[in-house]
Amino acid sequence: MPNVFCRLALALWIVATTATGAFAQSEPREVVVATRILPPLVIEQKGQLTGFSIDLWNAIAERLKIKTNYQPAPNVAALLDEVRSSRAALGIAAISITAAREIEFEFSQPMLNAGLQIMIRGSRDGGGNPLSDLLGLLFSWTTLLWLGMALLLLLVPAHIVWFLERRHSAGLVPVKSYIPGIFYAMYWSAATLATQAENQPRQWLARIVAVFWMFTGIVFVALYTAQLAATLTVQQIQGGINGPEDLVGRKVAATRGSTAAAVLRDLRAQVVEVERIDDAYRALNERDVDAVVFDSPVLLYYAANEGKGRVQMVGAPFRKEDYGIVFRPGDPLRRQVSATLLRLREEGVYQQIYDRWFTSR
Ligand code: GLU
Repeated sequence: MPNVFCRLALALWIVATTATGAFAQSEPREVVVATRILPPLVIEQKGQLTGFSIDLWNAIAERLKIKTNYQPAPNVAALLDEVRSSRAALGIAAISITAAREIEFEFSQPMLNAGLQIMIRGSRDGGGNPLSDLLGLLFSWTTLLWLGMALLLLLVPAHIVWFLERRHSAGLVPVKSYIPGIFYAMYWSAATLATQAENQPRQWLARIVAVFWMFTGIVFVALYTAQLAATLTVQQIQGGINGPEDLVGRKVAATRGSTAAAVLRDLRAQVVEVERIDDAYRALNERDVDAVVFDSPVLLYYAANEGKGRVQMVGAPFRKEDYGIVFRPGDPLRRQVSATLLRLREEGVYQQIYDRWFTSR
């Protein structure tokens, strides 16, 4: 009899443990998800994460009964490091699926089509305004150099003319003494060089010098004009960034470890790598860099919101990339996530999330 009780108790215990086991399985499991702030994919608002990638992951996680513990990383390299070192089970933000990353990691089905695009300051003509162009030329090194040369040069005819004219009663120099007599002569010399003199010497030798000096003035003005025109042309040619080929040697900002930074190095641009994309926007607005090259969904969002009127996009994305959710190789969760992602697309949930973040409001 006690044997029967024993068996009954054992059977009950087995049923009970199996039941709790089954219950434990349907409990949401907690997963650490590495991410990174990058509006509009991942946005931090009052300590809460939101954005396209976050909404998408939350929808996937809800279906898979996963409780998420987000772990923000400072840049994409650090994010991948979190996954590599198993500190995070997976990563989602704006992670481009690349050949190099595919060797080390495994990606979900693509979650968004993206690509690299160029963003520059201001309006189409490069943001130049005529007044600042004029002031820039007036106080340029070119002008200073030519002024210095002119000052030195005009001393020669000024002295000759002063010497020859000082005794001439109705001449250019009304006083005999060197000072202030030389200043009259210098003023005449400067005005002639600029082809603007009001009167001319009376003494015949001084007149010959004057004629020679007038021709010097014509050549001087012609050379200076040519130099200014050349400077302006160079500025205009350099000012135009119309495509990736114009980025050679230019200062361009991108985030650290990003595909954009790698592409810019290949293009032989001077890459300024920043942690936060906001730092790239700031560098562009403060003229520390000539352009920002980065993921088009991120740049378009900035250009349509905070950067409206201050920045403009150059052309279409010049390199296509897709974003994916990143896993360590062999993780069975990847297939479940991919299947759920595809199901969300089929059911229209993906489109709703997409419209929330990418359709202009
Ligand atoms: N799509 C870029 C990449 O994967 C994003 C870089 C970033 O998060 O700053 O390289």
